[in-house]
Amino acid sequence: MPIYSTLRSLTRLFSYRFISRLINSLPDKVNHKKMIHSVKSRRIALYVHIPYCLEPVCRFCCFVRYPLRSDSDLISYARALVNEIDWYSSNLENASVGSIYFGGGTPTVNISLLGELIDVLRSYFGMVPITVESNPRTLINGGLDQLKLLKINRLSIGIQSFQDWKLKRMGRYSLPIEENKKIIREALGKFDTVNIDLVWGIPGENERSVIYDVVTAFNLGVDQATFYPIMPPPMKSKVMPDYVSLPISRELKLYRTLLSTVLSYDYRPDTPWCMSKMSNSQQLIDEYITEYYDFIGIGVSSIGKIRDYVYVDTFSPEKYVKMIKKRGYSVSRSMKLNKIDSDLFDIDSSLFGLNIRKPISIKSFTSFLLWSLAQLMFFSLSRLINVRENANILYALHLVQKTLYSGMNALREIGIKHKI
Ligand code: SF4
Repeated sequence: MPIYSTLRSLTRLFSYRFISRLINSLPDKVNHKKMIHSVKSRRIALYVHIPYCLEPVCRFCCFVRYPLRSDSDLISYARALVNEIDWYSSNLENASVGSIYFGGGTPTVNISLLGELIDVLRSYFGMVPITVESNPRTLINGGLDQLKLLKINRLSIGIQSFQDWKLKRMGRYSLPIEENKKIIREALGKFDTVNIDLVWGIPGENERSVIYDVVTAFNLGVDQATFYPIMPPPMKSKVMPDYVSLPISRELKLYRTLLSTVLSYDYRPDTPWCMSKMSNSQQLIDEYITEYYDFIGIGVSSIGKIRDYVYVDTFSPEKYVKMIKKRGYSVSRSMKLNKIDSDLFDIDSSLFGLNIRKPISIKSFTSFLLWSLAQLMFFSLSRLINVRENANILYALHLVQKTLYSGMNALREIGIKHKI
């Protein structure tokens, strides 16, 4: 286990340094407009954040989401989003947008408004593949058919678990499990890819409960299932008092169980967490960062990255609306990464996407050496073993990503608390 704990400590160090630098950076210190212009003809992804969910919101969730208490909040937020999309479309010049991702919160909390946003985006960027995250509670009463009419490509449904005790322990308010299954069956075939999100590693989780969720998902015939480890940030213990982070040896055991169950079906990992049906090879996945080095974040708490430039938008919807009125975009913190950090970001995105051959333009000599070494190891290893089926390697990649995302969750907590 020492290799894993060293890897986790190094990633933690990198992550905390990154978060504290970003939090302490000045708003728009780097000229945002100039950086967006510099995208030129690069291929980028767009992320759009909808920070509202139906009440009650889930206790375990670390995203920036607020209970939807009035439609007027959502309408004024959506208006501001249209203006921000407008601002980016006129400043992105010749960039080619390869993918659009709606995350949240719950983007399907109002499907008519979502449709209007999609129309605006398509009028600027054409028929780009679109992913939409959803909560099953918003898909009943014709919601699925409304989404089908919008011609989105990938629908991701947050199920979290097929076991009542897990949902209860996570503080997740859910439709009855049989109703969730019915929604999944109805969604299949309506979209190119139907993904379901599931969570593992919560207190009380054991091998049997991991297997139960995997088997139930695959027996339903989903195109894809993403198994997220629970990633509570430091202050989450206040709302999840019984949460105790699993020791590495225990987590590795659960991951091994998860992977071996996955591999006994017709599914294979696209990332350590995202398992796709082998017969459906052209899948979009949640982690668009593994496909694109450059991405633009639009809306509350969104993170964007253009080469070595990183920014995060404000965490407060009220502040967001005001900022958009004032200047057309809502950057709250921004900074330039040094060469090594920027390289590490790209290397991580390539490794997590199990895509070692993805071209990377390495900027520092140290990372050039590290990357060459990693490639050499991967190529020699891949002659001996199939990386996609090796729990030890996938677990190491999982550990790095989980640590990085826990850092992002800490950033979100600070952002919400201090209304950054
Ligand atoms: S898990 Fe999904 S539905 Fe629940 S609060 Fe988070 S974003 Fe909202």
